[in-house]
Amino acid sequence: MVEPQPAATIEFDEGICVVSGMCTSLASEIFRVSDDRLTLEVLQTEIPADLVAKAERAEACCPMDAIKVVRREGESTA
Ligand code: SF4
Repeated sequence: MVEPQPAATIEFDEGICVVSGMCTSLASEIFRVSDDRLTLEVLQTEIPADLVAKAERAEACCPMDAIKVVRREGESTA
């Protein structure tokens, strides 16, 4: 079976993340704060189409600009 291509990928800069948790409340399918609350875990870096809008909301709301959502070429920006 051929896996569907991801619609976007997540680039995350752990070095500047302050673990505010903002992204986890906006996209819990993608981001999670570790149990010790010291690090952010990215649960999936390859994002299917139905999660791209959530990922982009998290990107826009990150206070540190630690998240970049990179759409695959040819994907709609709508
Ligand atoms: S919103 Fe940004 S700074 Fe806050 S936990 Fe997520 S990636 Fe880190």
